Amino acid sequence: MVCALRLDHVVKRYGGHAAVDGIDLVVEQGEFLTLLGPSGCGKTTTLRLIGGMDRPDSGTIEIMGRRVDRLPSYKRDTATVFQSGALFPHLTVAENVAYGLRMRGVAAAEIGPRVKRILEVVRMSEFGERYSSEMSGGQRQRVALARAMVVEPSILLFDEPMSALDLKLKLELRAEIHRLHDELGFTAVFVTHDQSEAMALSDRIAVMNKGRIEQVGTPIEIFERPASEFVYTFVGESCSLELPAPKEGDPAARLFLRPTSLGLVNGAGAENVLIARVTTIEYLGGVYRIHAETEHGALFFDSTKAPEVGLDHTIKIGWRSADATYFPIS
Ligand code: ADP
Ligand code: MG
Repeated sequence: MVCALRLDHVVKRYGGHAAVDGIDLVVEQGEFLTLLGPSGCGKTTTLRLIGGMDRPDSGTIEIMGRRVDRLPSYKRDTATVFQSGALFPHLTVAENVAYGLRMRGVAAAEIGPRVKRILEVVRMSEFGERYSSEMSGGQRQRVALARAMVVEPSILLFDEPMSALDLKLKLELRAEIHRLHDELGFTAVFVTHDQSEAMALSDRIAVMNKGRIEQVGTPIEIFERPASEFVYTFVGESCSLELPAPKEGDPAARLFLRPTSLGLVNGAGAENVLIARVTTIEYLGGVYRIHAETEHGALFFDSTKAPEVGLDHTIKIGWRSADATYFPIS
């Protein structure tokens, strides 16, 4: 089966700066792939190169086995959902959704039924005659989704489509996109800086840093076998200590731990124990977060029970050796 998308050594420079610095990536048909990374790492630029809103300086891009990097956007068979819907304010929902079909020369008789069907799919049937000013942000994003999906592109592109929504709507739209992908099986390239969004939605995640891909893998691979300190600390919470690797002859390395691997130690029993002083206790709703200072650095961990220790108390924090990760000091 031909892959949906292939990027080979793609580079895009602005001035002297490489916003995208040599990216290789393959996305299979039906796959949901997320570009995850901090602001400014080149996610939007990569998406724009795929969608044809920009041209790479070098490298090649193929969609469904066809080279497209020299083609204009409208010849690429992609559709994009942006951060805020970008709906035409003077058109109704139904007209907005029909627009792309009309532009692609779909027969007039076919347009009505296809618009109706896709509005059912995103559960917006009753909103066909509304204007975007008459809807919430979450509803507008569903319409934007319908407008992109109705043309049945080879690849759906998403650029942080939930980032302008408040938490409740964000989680609703996330579940909606998940359901739609399960039901319809489209190919998606999704951009976000939010690691939980990437984990929840993706078949695979490409973690980006400074215009490059640091690691590509399933959410479990990215979380449990991170290839670098950057991936470890960007995906999920982490603590680090100035403690070199225990084996002799190892290069200078630093110890990384997930707070979920840490706990209070009473007496013996843990493989590794450090004495610590409690510096802050936070109630986070259902759990308490305890921050503590050790002679090798700061740690934090959560406890579902109200801690029996207070500020400035001395505690023992323990972890299993198998839960420790070391990365070389760069
Ligand atoms: P992200 O989407 O990951 O936040 P972008 O792809 O938007 O990152 O930007 C990557 C880098 O390229 C940033 O340093 C940004 O300032 C720069 N950049 C993006 N677009 C342009 C542009 N049109 N002109 C100049 N610099 C740009
Ligand atoms: Mg961006």
